[in-house]
Formats: sequence, structure tokens, C-alpha cells
Amino acid sequence: MADEKKLTSQREDFSAWYNEVVVRAELADYAPVRGCMVVRPYGTALWENCQAGLDRRFKETGHQNALFPLLIPMSFLQKEAKHVEGFAPELAVVTRGGGKELEEPLVVRPTSETVIGHMYAKWVRSYRDLPILINQWGSVVRWEMRTRLFLRTLEFYWQEGHTAHATFEEAQEETIRMLNVYTDFAVNDAAMPVVPGRKSETEKFAGADASYSIEAMMGNKWALQAGTSHMLGQNFAKAFEIQYLDQNNELQYCWTTSWGLSARIIGGIIMTHGDDQGLKLPPRLAPYQVVIIPIWRLEEQKAVVLEATERVRAALAGRFRVVVDAREEMTPGFKFNEWEMRGVPLRLEIGPRDVEQESVVLARRDVPGKAGKFSVPMAGLAEAVGERLEAIQAGLLATATAFREANIHEAKSYEELQEIVDDGWAKAYWCGDDACEAKIKEETKASSRNIPLDQGDAGPGACVVCGQPAKEWAYWARAY
Ligand SMILES: [Zn+2]
Repeated sequence: MADEKKLTSQREDFSAWYNEVVVRAELADYAPVRGCMVVRPYGTALWENCQAGLDRRFKETGHQNALFPLLIPMSFLQKEAKHVEGFAPELAVVTRGGGKELEEPLVVRPTSETVIGHMYAKWVRSYRDLPILINQWGSVVRWEMRTRLFLRTLEFYWQEGHTAHATFEEAQEETIRMLNVYTDFAVNDAAMPVVPGRKSETEKFAGADASYSIEAMMGNKWALQAGTSHMLGQNFAKAFEIQYLDQNNELQYCWTTSWGLSARIIGGIIMTHGDDQGLKLPPRLAPYQVVIIPIWRLEEQKAVVLEATERVRAALAGRFRVVVDAREEMTPGFKFNEWEMRGVPLRLEIGPRDVEQESVVLARRDVPGKAGKFSVPMAGLAEAVGERLEAIQAGLLATATAFREANIHEAKSYEELQEIVDDGWAKAYWCGDDACEAKIKEETKASSRNIPLDQGDAGPGACVVCGQPAKEWAYWARAY
């Protein structure tokens, strides 16, 4: 149960605020193994709603779910040179099983390209078997040194899509299609404005030809990479011999993709919308969209208030995710604070006078004080609630978008970039050279976030670091 102590304010210490919200809202807790987390029922319900929104979109774009093993032979990872080089430092390796040394060490999957590639090589024979469009929901392990609940943990929950195609064009199209699916989910379900773009060569996935990401701005103006989609070219197809006979009966290598979005998105939702009172959850994903709080002072009012509460709950329950908080040992004020902290979009209060007037009071989490409170007749309540939830969903997106736009600035020089990334995102031309990127990373706290697919109508420019001609601009920011 939350105690009545106030949260650390965002301005005072954003990082402490984040940790307190995660734990006090009962989203997650620290596990006995350092760097692992326990996702509590409230956090799991939020993740399940994220999963449902994504899974629907995956199915609509032709994908099926499957389950692949947690343990992968070490030799599989070694088949793709860049892949093993990238992941080796983060691997958890099993060397004993059943009381004996294993002949070959097994890795706990850090991602599943290798084992899935192995299976695809077995399943694909001819062009008729393509494309293969599979997604897996599960968890993976990467031995991270610095961890934060939801944002970076040793084991994390996610989905990983893996597809195999006959041509480069189809694989490239799939890579961008899934990036767009992530963008659509982030914007429309999580109310989180994101920038879809290409990662730099140094920031791309180990073993990919090209990586793409969606990047979001958090409340402290840091960036969060919230989902990635990778064009793997023929790298894994060659390493695992994923081949097919084409229409001319000639053997060809497949083109593969992979794409993933994890429960890190919950960290993103917390830090995009949250305030000093706690969480602010977008209605489409909130475990509870409405909390009903019956209020009475005199014992003889209780029965009549609770009876009305039940009528209201029943009227809403079919359409909305509703919870009733009728605990008698807590004051209404305590409950208001607690549900505000837990981010429930809409509070519905029913007192004796409301029952008399056949009305209830609705209070929006996103609009503080009197401006967000309305008395609404019980007749037609579901419509009124539906409208308010839509307005909250739209309001959260609009607020987050305005905040982001206000904190992105174009850097015309290296000095300007240095100044901007101290407290925002810099939009700056970059020649594409690793050395210029490395200089920014070493001399500022920022890194390249991505090169947006939408470059607007800006023409070519000059690299802010070296002054050489640059075809594209990128976002630069401090990042989680
Ligand atoms: Zn340059």
C-alpha cells in the first residue's frame, strides 16, 4: 500500500521520481537477483494491454505467433561474426545441467535470430514457402551492468518478430512496415509521439545491414529508443543456410528481418506522461480506465450510496475497465491521491447528494483541480465517460507532442549543438562519418538517436562537426 509521503518532484530528481513511481504505483519491484525485476499485477495488466494492441496489429499485417526455446547452443551465436561480437559481453551461459558438465555450453537467448534462422533453414525449401512471418512473445537475458526497472534489466519481456523473404525489396518493405506498426501503436495507444528513423552505422543491431528505431522524448528531455526494426540482409541467411529454390529452380539465399518492442515502453509511458502526483496512463492502455469512489459520512447513507455505486459500475463494466474502491479504512482524500498516483485516467465520485440528483462527479487525471471536474447525469453516463476518455487520450498526445516540439532545436554549429543537447534534442546535419559522431558522443552527453525517415523539405546542408557536405540530418540527445 502506498504511504502518504509525497513523491520526490520531477524537478528535484527525475530519476528518483521515476523509481518511486514504479515501486509505489505497484508496477514492478526489485528481484533478489541484482538487475532483475518482478512485474506486479498492475504492471502486468498494463503490459498485457500493450501486448494486445501490438498483437492485433501483427495479425492484421499477416504474422503468426510461435514459441522458440530459451536455450541456444553457443555454436549458433558464433556462426554470425558480428552478432557474436556484439552480444558476447552480455551472454549468460549455462555450462552444467543434470549435475554434469555440458558437452557444449548453452546460452540463455539474448535474442533469437540464430535459433530461428536454424529452423527457417529447415522449413524453407522453395519460393512457395516464402515469406515466413513469425512473432514470438517471451523474455530474453542480457547481462547489463547498470539497470533500471523497465528501462534496462537483465531479463526483459518483449516480442521479437522474425521474417524471411525471397527478395531484398520485400524484406526492406517488411522492415519499414513493422517500424510503422510500432509508430502507430506508440502514437495512438500509448499517446507517445515518436520519431521513426534509421540508426547510425555504429548504433545498429549486431548483424544487421540497417537498423531503424522509434525515439521518444521523456519528461526530462532525454530520448528513449522504444522499438527497433532491423533489415538483416542475407547475413543470417548465409550463416544458417536459409535457402530456397526460385522459379527457375536455382538456389537462392533468403533476405531476413527482425523487430522488437519490449516492456521498456512502460518506462516510456511513465516518463512521457507522468507528473509530480505520479503516473498518468493513456486510457487505451490503462489497466483501469475508471475508478469509482463511493463517499459517505453517515452510516445511514452507506447503503444508498453503495447501491448506486453498483448500478453505475454495472452500467460501465461492459464497455470500460472499471474498479470500485469501497475500502472503509481509508478517507476519500487518501484514495484520490492513491489513484492519481497510479494514473487512472478518470475518477468517478458518488456521494449521497449525487444519488439524490441522479448524477455523479467525474474528475480527469490529466486536468488538475476544478477545471477537470464535471457533474454528469447518471442517464447516458457511459457516453459521457467514453467522450472524456477519448478527450484524455487525445490530450495526452497533444501535450506530449507540444512538449517535444518545444524542446527540439536546430543546431547550425557544433557550439550550438553542445548547448542544445544539455537540455533538449538537437536537430543537426551530419556527414555520416563515424569520427564526427564519435566526437559528439565523447565531448557531449548526447548520442545520435536516429536519422528521421521524414527529412522534411530541407535540402543538403553542412555537417555541424566537420563542415563537409551532408545529405541528411539526425537527432542528437542524451538517451536511456
Ligand atoms: Zn562530419
